[in-house]
Amino acid sequence: MLLSKNNFFWVGELPDQYCSESFLHVQSIDEIPLEFGGMVCISYQDGGQTDEALKRFYQQTGRWSWCVYVTDSTPYSECVTDGVFEEEVALHEWQEVRRRLEAMQDYQSIDPIIGWLGVNRRRRIMALKRLESSTIYSYPIIDLFFPDVYSTYRYVLSEQNRGVLEAEHLISRIRVCSNCNSGHLNYVEVCPECSSIDIDSQSSLHCFTCGHVGDQQSFQRRGKLECPKCLTQLRHIGVDYDRPLENHVCNSCTSLFVEAATISQCLSCDEKIKVEELVIRKLYQLKLGEVGEYVSTSITAKAVDTW
Ligand SMILES: [Zn+2]
Ligand SMILES: [Zn+2]
Ligand SMILES: [Zn+2]
Repeated sequence: MLLSKNNFFWVGELPDQYCSESFLHVQSIDEIPLEFGGMVCISYQDGGQTDEALKRFYQQTGRWSWCVYVTDSTPYSECVTDGVFEEEVALHEWQEVRRRLEAMQDYQSIDPIIGWLGVNRRRRIMALKRLESSTIYSYPIIDLFFPDVYSTYRYVLSEQNRGVLEAEHLISRIRVCSNCNSGHLNYVEVCPECSSIDIDSQSSLHCFTCGHVGDQQSFQRRGKLECPKCLTQLRHIGVDYDRPLENHVCNSCTSLFVEAATISQCLSCDEKIKVEELVIRKLYQLKLGEVGEYVSTSITAKAVDTW
């Protein structure tokens, strides 16, 4: 049998009532053997330490075949582990993973994502939001299994198109820069005539006698309204004057306009892009797709046949 012994490891701080004797307590991730199949619980109170340990753990091949738990979850750990450690649940889950793993004949050459999702059907590909990243969202588990992939978003999209992955539910929809893929964008109203950002809203008046349009303030004379151009007294709205719809003014070209245009400026590369030309990205939570199911179960079936 492939997995004859229990490969159970506990890394970091021991809890007050340390439960299972089947776990071997180690100080560092590096002490965990490079084997297929096992269970590890990472126990640090410091979230940064937990995330570092996870990244280190997944650097080795075959880690997709392990059950991975933490004692204190972080947003990152939620994307790349099986959750917070509870002994009974974990042991049960490991039995299931072990059964599926043992049925895989060629487990050493299986795509790690298909393997990871295939041995535990509760697992999902999750997106993580990180404001310090220019693309804002990424899929950490893809990053761990394929560190050379340029964009985890594109990777997921192409695996989705192949049917390996299937979208389960929409997490968010963001717009990114069409030049550099950054999601850090500033939307700014500009003059529709000259695209200047130096615009103000103003209440204007329109004199019927001479047609002059100007800021309401410039019509104020000794508590009365008077056109600054033709000096006509404006008494009745609708008869002597009215308020034009254009309530914005451009300080660069003096245009008056009803509605400002909106452009987006990329805060990462400074490019100015029309809002309708930004790239829309849909971030999904994903599960194993039909093709992925087929690959993982046909491997299982083949193994059963040759037993
Ligand atoms: Zn006038
Ligand atoms: Zn202008
Ligand atoms: Zn950009």
